[in-house]
Amino acid sequence: MKKNRSMERLWAPWRARYIQHIGRIKGCVFCKRLGERRDAKNFIVTRTRYSFAVLNIFPYNNGHVMVMPKRHTNSFRGMTQAEKCDLLDLIDDMKGRLSYTLRPDGFNIGINLGAAGGAGVRGHIHVHIVPRWVGDTNFMPVLAGTKVVSESLESVYRRLTQCSTDKRSKKRK
Ligand SMILES: [Zn+2]
Repeated sequence: MKKNRSMERLWAPWRARYIQHIGRIKGCVFCKRLGERRDAKNFIVTRTRYSFAVLNIFPYNNGHVMVMPKRHTNSFRGMTQAEKCDLLDLIDDMKGRLSYTLRPDGFNIGINLGAAGGAGVRGHIHVHIVPRWVGDTNFMPVLAGTKVVSESLESVYRRLTQCSTDKRSKKRK
């Protein structure tokens, strides 16, 4: 039977530990990180007026970033027009940084809403940006129960923070 490629999914077994981990933290894990003002330690790549971008420390794939409003809200309805525009701009900026530094073949960009939708942190809306490479849903996770994420979080963080839009456009000239 021909294999249905659309059924292939990235599989990240360490996500189970993440769910346990955040279950033990009191309050919102994103608001906590934002309030700590230790961006490098917390892998906060950048802050804009209304939004921020952070590396997912339990990534689905190399370079997995989450972009979200600074304000704690669980829906788009709870956001102002300015906050929504700012969020979209930051999604576009992070996608640009990831394209430039990691050269993926594509992206999955989306939101998990509610428990059934797979949301780990339900109270604070966040948009996942997951870079994809051809062949990244390979047999390794299925057979070995492990997944090869080729680059450390520190390394990805360094590359993304050093890759602002200004620097990218200067290099193109
Ligand atoms: Zn929050």
